[in-house]
Amino acid sequence: ALDAPLYADVRGDLAVSFEFFPPKNEKMEEQLWDAVRTLEPLGPEFVSVTYGAGGTTRERTHGTVARIQRETSLSAAAHLTCVEATREEIDQVAEGYWAAGVRHIVALRGDPPEQGARFSSPAGGYENAAALVAGLRRLHPFEISVAAYPESHPDSASTAADLDNLKRKLDAGANRAITQFFFEAETFFRFRDAAAAAGIDAEIVPGIMPVCNFASVQRMSAMCGTAVPAWMGRLFEGLDAHPAARQLVAATVAAELSRRLYAGGVKALHFYTLNRAELAFAICHLLGVRAKAPVAVEAAA
Ligand code: FAD
Repeated sequence: ALDAPLYADVRGDLAVSFEFFPPKNEKMEEQLWDAVRTLEPLGPEFVSVTYGAGGTTRERTHGTVARIQRETSLSAAAHLTCVEATREEIDQVAEGYWAAGVRHIVALRGDPPEQGARFSSPAGGYENAAALVAGLRRLHPFEISVAAYPESHPDSASTAADLDNLKRKLDAGANRAITQFFFEAETFFRFRDAAAAAGIDAEIVPGIMPVCNFASVQRMSAMCGTAVPAWMGRLFEGLDAHPAARQLVAATVAAELSRRLYAGGVKALHFYTLNRAELAFAICHLLGVRAKAPVAVEAAA
């Protein structure tokens, strides 16, 4: 399928989801809502809103998720972490989501506020994501997504231990896993095979990070253990003063990865949008994901 003419064999049967972060100010809020409204017609399975490091965005995450749930046709998912909070506090946040009509939680351990420090669960807190999943399961029948790491989490002792951890999260009641970003389709396929061999049969959705700012992606990748291939560095070389060209290259790289995943049987993709719609929108378009309900102009007349 990889040798077929580009995009000739897309059937529009791909499920997509989009991730946003809570805006810090009015200008960012405008940008977020612009992105939400642009992507909404594509009919994503869900959109999710991240939870700031150290739980610093609790109110902003809640406000953003609740507003998306209330004011759009989208199904909104809230990221929630175990950092700097007791079980009771976290359960209260989850109760608040349930009361606001939010039915989907992306359950995460999170990272300590000090960069590079090792996670230790606070007194009376959830010790890891698996414990959080079990806690949420006791509260309400939430839909729950968890994180997976095709290149292993930096804290994991081995690939096998990392897969065991993923299995514990799914056995605790999570419905699906969404992966950390990666840049080679083979990385995902190897992980998918290893997960299947470890008895994991839940859906594993690749997380796609369109690279707009290569330097910042390099920094992020170093922190989360994602390999940045040398060919990618070469592709972004000399483009610092050419933002439009850089955007085209970014779209090409992410679209090619997405197309290879699709050709390899992937049926769902999760896009890290960084609150910008265009790259994700363009890639969805290439893969045949189009507006679900075109606005009926005559009906309005
Ligand atoms: P866990 O699955 O609990 O564990 C992480 C690693 O620790 C495991 O791989 C395992 O190796 C080890 N470990 C855990 N428990 C045990 C145990 N009992 N014994 C041995 N080893 C163990 N962070 C945020 O702060 N906010 C967000 O909104 C956010 N969203 C994310 C969305 C996605 C899709 C992804 C992939 C990551 C996201 N993160 C977010 C980052 C995440 O919080 C970090 O990667 C964090 O370091 C690990 O979280 P986890 O849920 O994978 O942890």
